[in-house]
Amino acid sequence: MPVESVAGRNARARIHASVIAPEPLELPRTTFVQPDGRRIRVYGEVRGAPAPGAPRSEPTALHLRRDELSATWIAISPARNERPHRSAPTDTGTVPGSPAERYGCPLCPGGPELAFSYEAAVFENRFPSFALAPPEVPDPSDARFARSLGTCEVVMFTERHEGNFATLTPEETGRVVAVWRDRTSELWADDRLAYVLPFENRGEEIGATLSHPHGQIYAFDHLPPWIERRAAALRDGRARTGACVSCAVIADELASSRIVHADPHWTVGVPFAPRWPFEVHVRAVRHGARRLADLSAAESRALAGALHGVVERYNGLFAFELPYMMVVQEAPRGADDWHLSVELYPPHRSERLTKIRASVETATLLFINDTLPEESAARLQGVPVVPREEHPGFVVVAGADTGR
Ligand SMILES: [Zn+2]
Ligand SMILES: [Zn+2]
Repeated sequence: MPVESVAGRNARARIHASVIAPEPLELPRTTFVQPDGRRIRVYGEVRGAPAPGAPRSEPTALHLRRDELSATWIAISPARNERPHRSAPTDTGTVPGSPAERYGCPLCPGGPELAFSYEAAVFENRFPSFALAPPEVPDPSDARFARSLGTCEVVMFTERHEGNFATLTPEETGRVVAVWRDRTSELWADDRLAYVLPFENRGEEIGATLSHPHGQIYAFDHLPPWIERRAAALRDGRARTGACVSCAVIADELASSRIVHADPHWTVGVPFAPRWPFEVHVRAVRHGARRLADLSAAESRALAGALHGVVERYNGLFAFELPYMMVVQEAPRGADDWHLSVELYPPHRSERLTKIRASVETATLLFINDTLPEESAARLQGVPVVPREEHPGFVVVAGADTGR
């Protein structure tokens, strides 16, 4: 083979590689501290500042109570009943006014939370169930009470009022992954916090009162029961077999008919024992990818693409946007065999019927799934996903806090 030809091929390969694996773009972060101490983090271009008259966070009676019969903590958060719901739009969107007024949406630009246009933003919830400076418990002498120490943040995926992971642009989904990574890294660095959970409740069936594309991040000062159990299962598996249970689960999924999509970094599949009819887990293939902060640029890019693909399949399953709960499960401290996963639990089992977590599930945590996981996977495999361009992704560059 002529030398020139090899060199030419190598040059073409380099050009090709630079097209498919560009460097992530810088995403500047600007933090505003509001009069009540709550922070708004703006990612990308800064187009305004919080209004001086922004509503303040009111102290509430939030606290934890321990149920002695199950030795588990229950969070009491009475103020949550006063959370804002969508108000009636003041017009149809053809009359000038802020998007917040047009859509009757408190999360749109011009609303009480974000007075200005933004690309992505995170703000501390005005009605938190957990706080870093929680109020004192009703009776400090009673050990069944504890303070609700933690955080509740709201993550704005985009300023656009409509959209979901299937319709957000590659740039927007890449930005969401970068924002998650930035916030979770900072929360994990706080040793008062034992677990950090980004999630999205999508659709009225899930109790999401606002359709504006957004998620939340909760952090807790103790491991929630289900997380504790999962960490224990990994420890037990390691002690029993000397190997990583998560790696074995991924190998099993890849060899199964339940795999819906796979790339070198992620498996997307219906798990072997799902609790929900169309439950899908997006799992990091690489051992050591335990949290968002562990991901390489290529893994982050592929994650954004994988999430887009799952939700596009969900929306193609029936003739509507499928409601779902989506949780990002990062490794608790010390859980070395934990692989980062994003898990989606849609409650629908058919076009019209939803699975309700009813008596048996609620009383016992024994879930009864009336669908065959292999059939659910086949249904999802049958939904076409339109290929889309990859975005290089983002790395957050934090700026100084800006008080006002
Ligand atoms: Zn909105
Ligand atoms: Zn592993």
